Amino acid sequence: LAGCQGGSDDTIVPGTNATFPPFEYTQDGEIVGFDVALAEEVIDRAGYEVGEWVDIDFGSLIPSLNDGDIDLIAAGMTIEPGRKEQIDFSDPYWEASQAVLVRADGGFQPGSVDELADRRVGAQAGTTGEGQIEDLIEAGTITESDYRQYENYTLAVQDLENGNVDAVVIDVPVAQNFTAERSVAVAFEIDTGEQYGLGMRQDDDRIADINDAIAEIREDGTYDDLVAEWHE
Ligand code: GLN
Repeated sequence: LAGCQGGSDDTIVPGTNATFPPFEYTQDGEIVGFDVALAEEVIDRAGYEVGEWVDIDFGSLIPSLNDGDIDLIAAGMTIEPGRKEQIDFSDPYWEASQAVLVRADGGFQPGSVDELADRRVGAQAGTTGEGQIEDLIEAGTITESDYRQYENYTLAVQDLENGNVDAVVIDVPVAQNFTAERSVAVAFEIDTGEQYGLGMRQDDDRIADINDAIAEIREDGTYDDLVAEWHE
């Protein structure tokens, strides 16, 4: 029932997890980033009001969307079959793979997933990076107890710097962003060929307007301007 949902039909309430720079993070108490700017532009172009941003754990985004607490997920979320059973995704707006992040001290420099054997490896709960680690456990490269699961990637990278894990599996663009600010380095990449989409409820037909708006900002150069502002 539309009337029971987060916003009115005119308003789209966006939700994110603001610990994923440069896509979403907090600066001077404000939620900013590429996804934030992109979602606001797209919602506006689609003819809707942008509601107040809701900042919650990554794992709570899909349940909150389906409960109607938010109307749109903008969180660097990879379009995945399992998620597509629960929500709809907009057309893709970004491409990413996974990176293996290590400390920048040059101590441990793995060149492939096999070299992660018996190391402590971290990721954020419920992510595609965690999926890579699950594959490593499945393959017997590491054991369940070698895996450290974090509420968010900012905490995972902190623990990597502190020496509590030896590697973190994380989306490439976010890994690169952390290397600029923290003493961590990308050891190698895992070519997963992921695409990010904006998430919406499966019964919310406003997604057609959102897709039109994404196409429009790609055509008129606004998308490139946003990339230049947040990624370069
Ligand atoms: N792209 C990854 C995923 O969808 C990570 C997203 C994130 O941590 N915000 O699982």
